[in-house]
Amino acid sequence: MVTKVQKINPGNFKKEELEEACDILKNGGLVAFPTETVYGLGGDALNPLAASKIYKAKGRPSDNPLIVHIACMEDLYKVAEDITENGRKLAEAFWPGPLTMVFKKKDIVPLSVTGGLLTVAVRMPGHPVARELIRQSGVCIAAPSANKSGRPSPVRAEHVIEDLDGKIDMVIDGGSARVGIESSIIDVSGEVPVILRPGYITKDMAGQVVGNIFTDPAIESRTPVDGITAKAPGMKYRHYAPEGELIIVEGDISNVICKINMFVKDKEKEGCKTAVIATDETKDKYRCSIVKSIGSRKHEASIAAGLYDILREMDYLGAQFIYSESFDNDILGGAVMNRMIKAAAYHIVRA
Ligand code: AMP
Ligand code: MG
Repeated sequence: MVTKVQKINPGNFKKEELEEACDILKNGGLVAFPTETVYGLGGDALNPLAASKIYKAKGRPSDNPLIVHIACMEDLYKVAEDITENGRKLAEAFWPGPLTMVFKKKDIVPLSVTGGLLTVAVRMPGHPVARELIRQSGVCIAAPSANKSGRPSPVRAEHVIEDLDGKIDMVIDGGSARVGIESSIIDVSGEVPVILRPGYITKDMAGQVVGNIFTDPAIESRTPVDGITAKAPGMKYRHYAPEGELIIVEGDISNVICKINMFVKDKEKEGCKTAVIATDETKDKYRCSIVKSIGSRKHEASIAAGLYDILREMDYLGAQFIYSESFDNDILGGAVMNRMIKAAAYHIVRA
């Protein structure tokens, strides 16, 4: 299969530019498209064949459910039932936007889309191309991130091509994803909402809307704990990982810099290709042949937006060992660290 790349300017495009993508979706094919979080790999959520193509193209385990993307509230009532008051309030506050919610599913949604669960994860994206694609095709779009399973999520169309060229019908290239990490996931199917995956919409933000809110203990843990399984099936897999070994160094920043410089010296002496993930504020303080800034601590959204780009860049550079500062203390830090800890397979060192 030849994967067509279609460039679209999200700030100024005509409906006709999405016609071919809409036809592909309506006929059960796959289209990767930009959203504000990361690029999604879209197929018709109500067509089990399209769902199975998504799993196959990504190499995704079949028990890891897909998020269904919708364009308006009427779509929500098509795919979900027993919409709780909390779900309604959060939708009003944060949709369209980087929030996914888990509801009871309607029978029309195939179990292959929900990984066999009786719930369905739904998001109304805010990206103009994503919204128009859903609206114009009339298709509720099941879309996981458009990467090969386990790889860092794609934040540019080039990343999608790297992982899925020849395996999907089309990629819509709409430039860089603004947020850069996947949506927050909140389960609103029960009495008290539970955060299953941290993201741009933080616990505080959601808590201001619904009051009481919990976090799934599995996602707060900094080590794999026996007997605790994440409630979002996808959160249990090693994920987001670069090819080299990633090690997070945490502690007081001056100690962190000192410790990373020590590690680098040892590894470079052994002849290993070594890299450092720093910030704009610290990048000049490292002695390593590869030092890359993920963003600025003064603008923490830039760190989230830079995460997957920098992890992929480490692969292009052939880094065998990657030492990174920790980002725990920022508001978005919980979301960034959640991905980083998994990319590092829980390898964290205290300086
Ligand atoms: P991705 O689209 O690649 O970001 O992955 C979707 C995430 O949503 C995975 O972590 C899934 O486990 C999670 N998810 C999707 N549907 C459900 C559901 N019904 N219940 C809990 N988590 C879900
Ligand atoms: Mg993913």
